[in-house]
Amino acid sequence: MNLTNSKKLLKKYFGYDEFRPAQEKIIDSILNGNDTLAIMPTGAGKSICFQIPALILDGVAVVVSPLISLMKDQVDALNTAGIPATFINSALDKMERDNRVERLLKGAYKLLYIAPEALDTYTMNSVLPNLKISLIAIDEAHCVSQWGHDFRPHYQEIAPFIERLPYRPLVAAFTATATPKVQEDIVNLLRLQSPKVYISGFDRPNLYFKVLRNVDKDNFVLDYIKEHPGDSGIIYAATQKKVEQLHLFLLQHGIKAGRYHAGLSNQERIQTQDDFIYDRTDVIVATVAFGMGIDKSNVRFVIHYNMPKSIEGYYQEAGRAGRDGEKSDCILLFAQGDINTQKYLITHSEDTSRIAANMALLSQMIKYCHTPYCLRAFLLNYFGDMEAKDYCGFCENCEGNAELKDITVDTQMVLSCVYRMSERFGSSMVADVLKGSKAERIKTWGFDKLSTYGLMKERRVKDIREFIETLVAMGYLSVTESEYPTLSLNEKSWNMLRNKEQVFCKVKTEKRAKVDIKTANASNENADIFNKLRKLRLDISRRIGIPPFMVFSDATLRSIATTMPKTKEEFLQISGVGEKKLAVFGDEFLDFIRNNA
Ligand code: ADP
Ligand code: ZN
Repeated sequence: MNLTNSKKLLKKYFGYDEFRPAQEKIIDSILNGNDTLAIMPTGAGKSICFQIPALILDGVAVVVSPLISLMKDQVDALNTAGIPATFINSALDKMERDNRVERLLKGAYKLLYIAPEALDTYTMNSVLPNLKISLIAIDEAHCVSQWGHDFRPHYQEIAPFIERLPYRPLVAAFTATATPKVQEDIVNLLRLQSPKVYISGFDRPNLYFKVLRNVDKDNFVLDYIKEHPGDSGIIYAATQKKVEQLHLFLLQHGIKAGRYHAGLSNQERIQTQDDFIYDRTDVIVATVAFGMGIDKSNVRFVIHYNMPKSIEGYYQEAGRAGRDGEKSDCILLFAQGDINTQKYLITHSEDTSRIAANMALLSQMIKYCHTPYCLRAFLLNYFGDMEAKDYCGFCENCEGNAELKDITVDTQMVLSCVYRMSERFGSSMVADVLKGSKAERIKTWGFDKLSTYGLMKERRVKDIREFIETLVAMGYLSVTESEYPTLSLNEKSWNMLRNKEQVFCKVKTEKRAKVDIKTANASNENADIFNKLRKLRLDISRRIGIPPFMVFSDATLRSIATTMPKTKEEFLQISGVGEKKLAVFGDEFLDFIRNNA
């Protein structure tokens, strides 16, 4: 019964015919009165899991959300879909705030968005106890945990706030990233009561993962952008300096990219973010400071110019691509210098107690950059999904131009060198020995006397190091998770050595990998219509002042382009077209189709 009603609302307001399987379970759990913890990857459709219950339950749902910009976007999107929602924060002037409070007390809204730091303010303490709160939905719930990658102390005020209320509403927590430790923290620190926990798979099937090592990064980025005109994308770099350099390089080559990092004025940052959300700037070069507040669904690519510091961080940043479910690229450009940069940042951070933990996170990241196996499987295994298939067919390592090479002898050389160095050194020292380096430290340790000294002298040190990292990623070597990671042999290494097992590795055949990303999104004949629809969407967006992706998502535009509906009824059939949007935008789109059919 609940479900039929939920489904009707899903079509009416959001224009979708079906819930995704995880959504259905979570909504059901909330509607049955359970505290609920939902862990879903970015783009899986978390918001609908509390928005639909908010519409059904009596009273107003309070949504706690970490960022003011995100709040405004979500509220704009809801209003565009015809759902009465609002937010209250310190950026509003007093009159506007009083106005909203008054309407709130009259029951005019189904959802109220607030930031956690606002919970303990005078306004909220006087208003919230007088409301009928149906549900408290906590977005980005991992922010409550110090173990998460985005700890926000104010999240710890949520539980006391709930306890100050005259009665206890239902509580539902949502996050995209949660290791078991973080999950436990969420349940305990938010004081969820016998919560139902739903962990939906972490897979994002529409994301194409790719790692490129040792490419000319600047030119790769430039070519990629030129080959994807009109596509929105983010390029993350590790430092402000790098952002500036790359930004300048792109400008000099005629690409009107935006830039974003913490060293810029608040005003410039807001402007850049707005330009991106409203499709005025296609490409942003940024540090990881960019993106938390961005819900833009039509980001078509995320390129990491440098290796990030953890898989959690990487998956979240890369996951900003393709929220609309359309094919999108997540490309990581790796160079050995990236390891040094990240180590420097870790060892020079203020929080010295986290050095070992952060080095452990980094070593997994390095493995990702070197694994010859399926990249998606690596990521999913990392997040605890051991059922993930080891061949996805849609990542660079599953698909790329590669040939299988016998690396048995090379592997033996490295393993025996590590062994002879007493398993007490890291990859750069081992590589130096194999190279036959004349460095003083090699002599000091007497390593120039080892039988493995200079065994790989015809190779570049860089390549030897990379090969060692590959063996680590393949599991033939272990690395300690400490400030100075050392290599050691493990069971797999000994098995290999004892049984004279052969080792094979996929080796990319091209020197400089050409851009060969699948842009399976549109067939050519539709591309023209799609681009025109994109233009129409942009015009509408500018006229009414909401971001283009809120008018309709790329996915919806694409299905308009393929089906070319002729009547309002047909238009309403399209996924993403709800009643309000049909009423507001229908005529304009139908006119367009008439003129372009
Ligand atoms: P998250 O918060 O989990 O990252 P969102 O709530 O922003 O994800 O949803 C991601 C995208 O998926 C949005 O464009 C949303 O409209 C779309 N979406 C959500 N639920 C459905 C559904 N049942 N069918 C089709 N699209 C959906
Ligand atoms: Zn794969």
